[in-house]
Amino acid sequence: MQSKRTRLDRFLSQYLSVKRKDVRLLLAQGRVQVDHQVATDIQQFVDEYTHVTFDDKVVQNKTPSYIMLHKPQGVVSATKDPKHTTAIDLLPDNHPDNLHIVGRLDFNSTGLLLLTNDGRWSRRLTTPESQIEKRYLVGLDNPATQQMIDAFAAGIYFAFEDLTTRPASLKIIENTVIENTVAGHYAEVILAEGRYHQIKRMFGHFQIKVLSLHRFAVGNLSLDDDLLESQSRHLSKQEISSIF
Ligand code: URA
Repeated sequence: MQSKRTRLDRFLSQYLSVKRKDVRLLLAQGRVQVDHQVATDIQQFVDEYTHVTFDDKVVQNKTPSYIMLHKPQGVVSATKDPKHTTAIDLLPDNHPDNLHIVGRLDFNSTGLLLLTNDGRWSRRLTTPESQIEKRYLVGLDNPATQQMIDAFAAGIYFAFEDLTTRPASLKIIENTVIENTVAGHYAEVILAEGRYHQIKRMFGHFQIKVLSLHRFAVGNLSLDDDLLESQSRHLSKQEISSIF
């Protein structure tokens, strides 16, 4: 989901009831600040969370929200669903408006799910160019092999999309026992992209079945050890920027 963007001259002409061409003069006089900088370009875009002042009076100052949720199995990474519990249903009743999900997890995957109403932030996180790393603990029905490690690193061809996946890291984890899962073998996978059922399809290429999938980190942000399934919390200012 995207937050609505509009050109600065259009935005100010509506707010101040002046002609768009007169906004140029206000900018030349240094009377408008956008995100705490004197604005000089009428063509620059603002959205609902851009901080804007005119003659030092606040025109717009909305605070966006950023939430980490520990998603359990059997929950849809969506804001609405006619049949199943959604990630939004798990949040406290007073949750902020207009939240959307930043990077889905499958119905039975667990772990770190991010929600926000700041479209700029989620775009930065999910745009393919950002290559933010996502880390997963994956339970398998058979052990991973060196051949798979090499194939993950080289990229695997997905015929449906006609593309080769970006280099991914696969690490075999021995002697791991994880409660409530039936998997006998584990691996850690790091992806720098997020394609549909990507990890399942990558292992599927080798006829290996993914029995559990848990995302424990996105960029520099890790799921809190003490955040139980279905619990959520707001991110700190520092976390919001340091995730990149
Ligand atoms: N890859 C998958 O197959 N499923 C997820 O939920 C995340 C990554």
